[in-house]
Amino acid sequence: MPPETTSVPRSSAGEERTRPPVSIVIPVFNESAALGRLNVRLGRVRQELDRSAEVIYVDDGSTDRSLEELRVIQARDSGVTVVALARNAGQHAAVLAGFAHARGEVVITLDADLQNPPEEIPRLLAEIDAGYDVVGTRREGRTDPFLRRTISAAISRLASRAVGVPMTDCGSMLRAYRRPVVDEILQLAERALFIPALAAWVARRPTEIPIRHEPRVAGRSRYSPLRFMRLGFDLMTGFSLVPIQLVSLAGLGVSLLGIAFGCYLLVRRLVLGPESEGLFTLFAILFVFLGILIFAVGLVGEYVGRIYIEVRRRPPYVVRAVYRDDAEESCGSS
Ligand code: UDP
Ligand code: MG
Repeated sequence: MPPETTSVPRSSAGEERTRPPVSIVIPVFNESAALGRLNVRLGRVRQELDRSAEVIYVDDGSTDRSLEELRVIQARDSGVTVVALARNAGQHAAVLAGFAHARGEVVITLDADLQNPPEEIPRLLAEIDAGYDVVGTRREGRTDPFLRRTISAAISRLASRAVGVPMTDCGSMLRAYRRPVVDEILQLAERALFIPALAAWVARRPTEIPIRHEPRVAGRSRYSPLRFMRLGFDLMTGFSLVPIQLVSLAGLGVSLLGIAFGCYLLVRRLVLGPESEGLFTLFAILFVFLGILIFAVGLVGEYVGRIYIEVRRRPPYVVRAVYRDDAEESCGSS
């Protein structure tokens, strides 16, 4: 398949500027220690690219000096846009806000903490040029803690089955998307977002390549266990009803086991007479049932909660200001 018009800028109606071939979208949440180094390395990569690239930094409600630093970077470089969100919306909502302001024919997402080396960008673009519309990645030699890696591999396997597209590493956020895919994701504008999975879902020709993974330049992961769990739920509940169906199935299985156990106890009582001990066995069994019950209630609650959030129709993110060379807009929302 011949490459599409990535190198020929196209302008759509109402757009004063021509589209740059590439937009690089970077969500930033309290990354002031990394921004300087990121900007230098990204600048070098942009210079060596065979096409021009704009950078969209999305400040996801940082409480450190990230926004001030981004504004300094923006003031010096006309190819940089800074979108400041009014409050922390989460990595995927921040990326969505970046998509809404990106004008490129190809949009690349990148983490701000330099765990995804920006030097890999040309390799992603080569895949796009080869005709793919979504270029996913898997992190080689991933530097995150073992538990995090294991859970995230399991989630990736489940998600890839639910979406029906092979994805080895859903959490790897150095990815490239063609304009039609970005537009479709923007139109879906869901609240519980997981961008790589949504993209895989709308992609016509996805591919996946291995990339390097480096340690964080500063600080710790911005994902606390609770945030990480929420993200996992975003992915699971967003794409399938299987979790809740499995719980129903487990509930049914447990009830059948309970009946079988009851029958066994009855027969035992008739044959051997009433048992005096075994109280603790009963407790153990009770706890198993109780655990399953609590989990099931939680899972149902998760779906109900998500229906409530969808029904409320609150935007996934609120933009406070956009700092861009041509105009300074403010207080838009989506
Ligand atoms: N991030 C964000 N909003 C959040 C959490 C994270 O914009 O609520 C950004 C963060 O600044 C970084 C990227 O998302 O650029 C990935 O976050 P992090 O490195 O903490 O995740 P991990 O590498 O542990 O998956
Ligand atoms: Mg990281």
